[in-house]
Amino acid sequence: MTLLEFDLNINRMTQVLSVQNLGKYYGETKAVDGINLSVEKGEIFGFLGPNGAGKTTTIRCIMDFIRPSFGKIAAFNLDSHLDSVQIKAKTGYLSGDVRIYENWTGQEHFRFIESMRGKSKILSKLIKDFDFDPKVKAKKLSSGGKQKLGIIMAFLSEPEMLILDEPTTALDPLLQNTVYDYILNFAREGSTVFMSSHNLHEVQKICSRVGIIKQGKIIAEESVEELRSKKIHVVKATFDSKVSMADFDLSGVEVFKESAGSLTLRIKGDINPVISKMHNYKLKDLEVSHASLEDIFMAYYER
Ligand code: ATP
Repeated sequence: MTLLEFDLNINRMTQVLSVQNLGKYYGETKAVDGINLSVEKGEIFGFLGPNGAGKTTTIRCIMDFIRPSFGKIAAFNLDSHLDSVQIKAKTGYLSGDVRIYENWTGQEHFRFIESMRGKSKILSKLIKDFDFDPKVKAKKLSSGGKQKLGIIMAFLSEPEMLILDEPTTALDPLLQNTVYDYILNFAREGSTVFMSSHNLHEVQKICSRVGIIKQGKIIAEESVEELRSKKIHVVKATFDSKVSMADFDLSGVEVFKESAGSLTLRIKGDINPVISKMHNYKLKDLEVSHASLEDIFMAYYER
């Protein structure tokens, strides 16, 4: 076996979800326009994007609820369409708009899933942790209650893969943390998680990698650590003398704020050219920080 074949085999072993050149057009609307993604076993992949970017459409294609206009999706090395039943048997899915039977109680929903997936070992813990009353009919539940029901249904079989469309919508911060704890635990045990989100903080908190989608195209795909720590710095400097702005007209450097004697810069990439220019002046104060994910997100979106 050559080294390349070995690498390919390792990839096949660890890659759980693969999306290749996926497109979904609705007439003139290019909801998803040729995206590529892959998610490894045990990874928590955050799929970030604004309203209408194409997140739900991608998730519906992955779940084989709608057929793509072009492209290929595989999960567990199985075809998302041809082998959809096998894939669904290993997948916990949470829809963006939780689909439930209004006349059923939570308990009836859980029994239905257990009839297909086998008895859950964690159902009573889930019910307790999410403070959920399983005897109430779904139609009587608040939107948060419905969300809890959807989450418990997605989690109860401890699936090998979780596909979650904005899982923390309508939940209070305490319950959001409960969702994060479960997701992190599942991933630690080897489950693979693909979740869409609007929420940068939750992505920063739990995801290992993030794909940013805008108008149907992936505009960035990186590890959260890489996005956060390497790429963008914010430098705040206060000077003792007047500064020539021409000194900081450097590639990748954007002037955020400028006021008498002080300057705030957003730097994409290497910070050394900026620091060298600062040697031309007497500094009163200097603060270098990593940009928040919010700054990074904006930097990508403005591009
Ligand atoms: P949100 O965060 O608001 O849920 P999203 O990123 O999930 O947004 P999608 O729901 O995938 O975005 O929508 C992507 C684009 O495709 C939007 O312009 C939307 O209007 C369009 N679209 C989605 N479904 C349909 C459909 N069934 N028919 C026509 N257009 C659609």
